[in-house]
Amino acid sequence: MPEYEFRCMDCKRVVSFYLTIAEYESAAPACPHCGGAQLRRKIGRVRMARSEESRLETLSDPSSWGDVDENDPQSMARMMRRMSQETGEEMGPEFDDAVDRLEAGESPDEVENSIPALGGDGGSDDDDF
Ligand SMILES: [Zn+2]
Repeated sequence: MPEYEFRCMDCKRVVSFYLTIAEYESAAPACPHCGGAQLRRKIGRVRMARSEESRLETLSDPSSWGDVDENDPQSMARMMRRMSQETGEEMGPEFDDAVDRLEAGESPDEVENSIPALGGDGGSDDDDF
């Protein structure tokens, strides 16, 4: 359950709540200190920390990768896109290019070989760049 942090506009205290997304969307939490309803959400830090945590959970859970077939370019492309979304990082034009080529049906080996940054293992046969 995500934790949301608010600042109470009445007593100026910072308060945090564990809310489901639905509760967060619909409810107007009251300040537990003074009962004030003027809570202003503090944006940024907490959400970042939470997404980092869930990202690590996802990446360390092998079952979340269970539908990836390394011999199926489109499956690889889906996995890579998902990895990019999970990490929330900008992977750069080479990454996007690789995903596009996988989705177009090129073999993962070919794509990896042409983009050294994605290989990293076993690329011993052809590295005369
Ligand atoms: Zn208050």
